[in-house]
Amino acid sequence: MNTDHVEYTSFTGWVDPPTDPRPALDEDIDCRVAVIGGGINGMSTALRLTERGQDVVLLEAEFCGHGSSSRNAGQLAGAPGGDLQLLNLLSRKKMPGMMRLAEHAAHHVEDFIAKHDIDCEYEPTGNAFAAVSRGQMGRVRRVARIVTRAGGHVEVGTAAELGIPRGFVGGMREVIGGRMNPGRFSLGMRRVLLDSAARVFEQTKVTDVVRDGEQVVVTTPHGRVRADHVVLATNAFAGEWDITPRNLSVPIYVVEVETEPIDPVRIAALGWTSGMGLVTQHAIMENYRLTPRNTIVFGVRRLERGTSYPLPEKVPDRALVEELAGAFALRFPSLADVALDRAWGGWIAITSSWLPVAGRVGDNVHYSIACNGHGLAQAPYVGTLVADAIVDDELPEDLRTLWHDEPRFPRPIMMGRAGLRTIWAVDRFNDRVNGSRRRARRG
Ligand SMILES: Cc1cc2nc3c(=O)[nH]c(=O)nc-3n(C[C@H](O)[C@H](O)[C@H](O)COP(=O)(O)OP(=O)(O)OC[C@H]3O[C@@H](n4cnc5c(N)ncnc54)[C@H](O)[C@@H]3O)c2cc1C
Repeated sequence: MNTDHVEYTSFTGWVDPPTDPRPALDEDIDCRVAVIGGGINGMSTALRLTERGQDVVLLEAEFCGHGSSSRNAGQLAGAPGGDLQLLNLLSRKKMPGMMRLAEHAAHHVEDFIAKHDIDCEYEPTGNAFAAVSRGQMGRVRRVARIVTRAGGHVEVGTAAELGIPRGFVGGMREVIGGRMNPGRFSLGMRRVLLDSAARVFEQTKVTDVVRDGEQVVVTTPHGRVRADHVVLATNAFAGEWDITPRNLSVPIYVVEVETEPIDPVRIAALGWTSGMGLVTQHAIMENYRLTPRNTIVFGVRRLERGTSYPLPEKVPDRALVEELAGAFALRFPSLADVALDRAWGGWIAITSSWLPVAGRVGDNVHYSIACNGHGLAQAPYVGTLVADAIVDDELPEDLRTLWHDEPRFPRPIMMGRAGLRTIWAVDRFNDRVNGSRRRARRG
C-alpha cells in the first residue's frame, strides 16, 4: 500500500474546522449549570439542560467538536465496548444494564439526527464484530452468547451471510446502529447548540474548578463562572484539576487513516454488500468502514498512552500509519495497491473497567466521561441522562449501571507503555500463528 503522499492532520479527515468560532469568555458571570467541554457529551448535556429550562453556560477550549467527537471512525455501535468476555466475568450483573444502555444510546443518536435533520450521511447498516481467523470466530460466538443472554440484538454468520468482505471469516452483527460522518454530526450538533438558549464560549480553556460554599467557581483566562452545578465533560482531558476524581481514566491516543477513492467496481468485488462497519476481535481492535466517497477509513491497532497534561496536539506516528497500511493489505489483498490519502488521531479516555462512567463529587460536581472507544453513541446519551439527573435530582434508570456515588477508582492495569506494548505483541503473535495456519491449509 502506497503511503508516500499521506496528509497528516492534527484535526480530522472528516470536516474542516468551523469558520465562526464563538468569542471567549471575557467577564465574570453566574449560571445554574456550567458544562466544561464541548464534545458530543458536553453539548448533549447543555442541550438537554436548556430544553428543560435551565440557565446553562458551556465552556470549550477550542471549538465545539474539536476533540474525538469529530475524529472517530463514525461507527455508531449498538453494543458495549471493551472486552465483553472480561466484562461478563468481572461485572456480570451489569451486563443487562450495559446492553440496554448501548442500544438506547444508538437509538438516541438516530433520533437526534432525525429530529434536527443533521446531514451526517448516517446509514443504519449495523456494525459487525468481524473475525480474521477461526480463533476469533470462536470468540465472536462466545461474545454473541453473552450479548444475547444480556438482552442484546445480534446475529452471527459467515462473511457471505453477513455481507462483509471475503477476507474475514465471519462475525456478529449488531443489528442496531450504523455508520456516519462524525465530523458532520458533531458540527451539526454544534449548530443546534449555538441556536439554543445555552450561552456558549469557545476558545475558553478552563484552568481550574473549585468549590466555594454551596457553589462552584470555574476559572478561565479572562473570566470566571460561578455555578450551582458543574459538569466535567472533557473526556481524555480530565485530570488537570484537583477536583477530578483520581484514576478516573487514562488518556490514550488512537489513529484513523483513509484510502484514496477506490473504483466502485473493485469495492463491489469485495462482497461487502451490507456496508457494515467492522471491528476485529484483537485485544486492540482494527476497525474498517466504507464511506460515501468510495474510500475506506480504518485504524487503531495500537494505543499510545498520554503521560502528562496538557495533552499535546498530535499527528499520527508515521510508523503506525505504515503498520496500519500493512494490516489493510492483509485484510483486503485485492486492494493492496491502493494509496493512503490521510491520517489523523485523537485522545480518548479509557477507564479501568473499560465501562463508561458517570458520577458526582459532593452534591454539585458531576462528571460523565470515558465512553472508551464507543462514545459516538454513548457520550451523547449519557450526557443527556446526566442533565436529567441534575434537573430531577434522581438517577434515570439507564444511568444507574454507570453511576459512582463514591468517586474511587482503582489504578488501571496494563495501561502503561509496557503493558500496551505487550498487548500489541500478543495480537501480532496471534496474527502470525493464524497466518501460518491459513497458509498450511491452502497447501
Ligand atoms: C480515532 C478515534 C476513533 C474512534 N472511533 C469511534 C467509533 O467508531 N465509534 C465510537 O462509538 N467511538 C469512537 N471513538 C470514541 C469517541 O469518539 C469518543 O468516545 C467520543 O467522541 C467522546 O466524546 P466526548 O464529548 O466525551 O469527548 P471529546 O469529543 O474529546 O470532547 C471533549 C472536549 O473537551 C474540551 N476540553 C478539554 N479540556 C478542556 C478545558 N480545560 N476547558 C474547556 N474545554 C476543554 C476539548 O477541547 C474537547 O472538545 C473514537 C475516537 C477516536 C479518537
